[in-house]
Amino acid sequence: DPPALRVVGLQKHFPVRGLRSKKVVHAVDDVDLELHAGSVVALVGESGSGKSTVARLLARLMPATGGTIELDGRDVTGGGRRAFRRYVGRVQMIFQDPFGSLNPVHTVRYILTRSLRIHRGRLRGEALEEALAELLERVHLAPVERYVDKYPHELSGGQRQRVAIARALAADPEVLLADEPISMLDVSIRLGILNLLRDLRDRMGIAILYITHDIASARYFADRTMVMYAGRVVEVGDSESVTQDPRHPYTQLLVGSAPDPDDMSTRARGAHGEAPSLVSPPPGCRFNTRCPFATDLCREEVPELLDVGDGRAAACWGYSDRSDRPRLGSVLEA
Ligand code: ATP
Ligand code: MG
Repeated sequence: DPPALRVVGLQKHFPVRGLRSKKVVHAVDDVDLELHAGSVVALVGESGSGKSTVARLLARLMPATGGTIELDGRDVTGGGRRAFRRYVGRVQMIFQDPFGSLNPVHTVRYILTRSLRIHRGRLRGEALEEALAELLERVHLAPVERYVDKYPHELSGGQRQRVAIARALAADPEVLLADEPISMLDVSIRLGILNLLRDLRDRMGIAILYITHDIASARYFADRTMVMYAGRVVEVGDSESVTQDPRHPYTQLLVGSAPDPDDMSTRARGAHGEAPSLVSPPPGCRFNTRCPFATDLCREEVPELLDVGDGRAAACWGYSDRSDRPRLGSVLEA
C-alpha cells in the first residue's frame, strides 16, 4: 500500500516583512516524510526547528513554497477547491491548546454536529444522536448525556482535548496531525491522551504525526521518530534506536541533555550555543555552528540523510566514506 501521506522535498520559506526585503525565513527545507496507516511518526526538535510549520503545511493551512504532497499515492500538491476540501477531511489536525481550539460559546453537541455535517452531510434525528454517541464513546467520554450539552469551560483540559479529537474523528480521517497535544495538559492525564491516540491508531488504522519536545514520549508512543534541527531533518529511524542510540551529534545532545523533557530546548541551547538564524542559515550542515566535530566539509556542503544501518538514517558527514569526513566522538564529553 502507498503511504496515507507522503511528502517529498517539503519547503517553506516565509518572506521577511520589511521595506523591499527579499530575505526569507528558511523555516522548513527539503523534508521527506511518510505516514502509513496504523502507525505513529514522532517529529521531535527544539523550539523553532520547524515542527509546527511542517504540520501546518500537511494540513494545508498554508501553501508550501516547494515540494510535493501525496495522499494515498495521488499527487494533491495543486488541486482546486474541491480537491482541497476532500483533502482537509482526510487529514485532520489536533492542536496544543484545547481551550483555544474549541469555541467557548458552543456546546460539545454543536461542535461535533457541525463537524459531522461538514464531513458526512446532513445528519438528523436518530442518526445524528447515534453519530454523536459513537464519537464521544470513541474518545472515552461516556455516558454521552454527561458531556454532550457541556460548554468547553465546564470540561477539564483532558476532556477538552478529547472533544477536539472527537471533532477530528467526525471527518473520518486517514491522518491525524497532533501538534504537542499533551504539553499543556496536567502531567497526570497526559498518558491517557496518548493511550487514546494509540487506540485510534490500532483500532481505526489512523496514521498519526505526533509533534513533541519530549523525546521520552516519542519513545513511548511513536513507531518511528524524526528529529528536526533548524528546518531540516537530521535523523530518522525506529523510535527505540533513535532515542536509545542516537547517531547524529544533535540527537545525541538532545537525548543526553534532556533529563527533564519539558526543559529540553533551554538545556540543549544553554549547553552548546544558540540555534542559527533561519534568515541566513549557515551553509553546509546547519548544526555545524554547535557541533564539536565540524570540519570544513560540514561548513560547506549540506549532508544528505545517510544510511546508518537498521533502517535508520542520519544527515551527518561523519557517516559518509569521504576521506575529509569529521571524526565523531561523544558529543557530551566534547
Ligand atoms: P515550537 O517548538 O516552539 O512550537 P516549532 O518547531 O513548531 O517550534 P515553527 O513554529 O514551525 O517551530 O517555526 C519555525 C520557524 O519559522 C521559526 O523561526 C519561526 O519564527 C518561523 N515562522 C513560523 N511561522 C512564521 C510566519 N508566519 N512568518 C514568519 N516566520 C514564521
Ligand atoms: Mg510548534
